[in-house]
Amino acid sequence: MRIEQDIKLDFKDVLIRPKRSTLTSRSEVDISRDFIFPHSRKTYRGIPIIAANMDTTGTFEMARALSRYELSAALHKHYGETELLDFFAARPVNGAVFYSMGITAPDFDKFRRVMEKLERAGGAIENVCIDVANGYTKAFIRFIHKFRAEFPSITLMAGNVVTGEMTEELILDGVDIVKVGIGPGSVCTTRKMAGVGYPQLSAIIECADAAHGLRGLICADGGCASPGDLAKAFGAGADFVMLGGMFAGHDECASEVVEVDGERKMLFYGMSSREAMNRHAGGIAKYRASEGKEVLIDCRGPVENTLRDILGGVRSACTYVGAKTLKELSKRTTFVRVTQQLNEVFGAS
Ligand code: 5GP
Repeated sequence: MRIEQDIKLDFKDVLIRPKRSTLTSRSEVDISRDFIFPHSRKTYRGIPIIAANMDTTGTFEMARALSRYELSAALHKHYGETELLDFFAARPVNGAVFYSMGITAPDFDKFRRVMEKLERAGGAIENVCIDVANGYTKAFIRFIHKFRAEFPSITLMAGNVVTGEMTEELILDGVDIVKVGIGPGSVCTTRKMAGVGYPQLSAIIECADAAHGLRGLICADGGCASPGDLAKAFGAGADFVMLGGMFAGHDECASEVVEVDGERKMLFYGMSSREAMNRHAGGIAKYRASEGKEVLIDCRGPVENTLRDILGGVRSACTYVGAKTLKELSKRTTFVRVTQQLNEVFGAS
């Protein structure tokens, strides 16, 4: 047994220090990014925020709505082949849409079939998200190799990991964007159930540093509960930020609406929760526990309403530190640590 003594931080443990700025208005800030992915060599331009590939938020409707603002979505992996074919044949033009898959043989076979049919019809899937709860297994790495050998020009996002050495390994194995986050999700209970995790701000700082050294990118996944958290994630070095809870409860989500004490609520649940397992796997297997929870959240109307707050918050952070572009934000970010007591009084996150 070993104990690491250096302090690891979460979003709530810091604030961004204001800096002298020549910007006079938020409208002067450009929050789009341009990237060339290291393996696929494809180019990207857009606002680097992605809806999570949860079955409530990673919907076709969400992808279409976000694409109108140049944001992206990772589709959930429970869509059928015909639906996927129809969607990708007429996919949104702005932002990126990620096809999501796990690492089983049926996952890969389904992807091959969809890709083959699309290519015959003159289309293609350009972005794929390979998603496992624990990105530290040999089986995951083997799958990445297999996928990359077969599809060299697809932009590949994969994870999740939380440490620099595994980020480097994944980029060297062919991943363009490493998905970072174990345990911070709003409906995730891994920290409680398994005692495993890593404070998300430190994970982003360490993984971004490792990825950028190899010209790779990272996507900070989980734990953002307010626009300020996104600003902190970008300030810490995230190239993309993935959101589940902040995009939940909108008209574009696939959730049942229920009435509680006269108020309309939507069900939102973790993809490893009992609810998700009952829906997609016929219940929880005997050898595992649920690592996600179910919550009821307020119905929030079209996602456009929330987007204005999110994009406005990130723009505001840029003006406070004098960053004319989102790319400059991390270079101009100095975090100040806040004590738990201050945090409770002033609400850092
Ligand atoms: P949020 O933005 O809601 O804080 O976090 C979204 C992320 O939480 C997802 O992209 C995914 O990585 C993670 N997540 C979703 N469902 C579960 C779950 O049931 N268990 C765990 N451990 N993580 C989950």
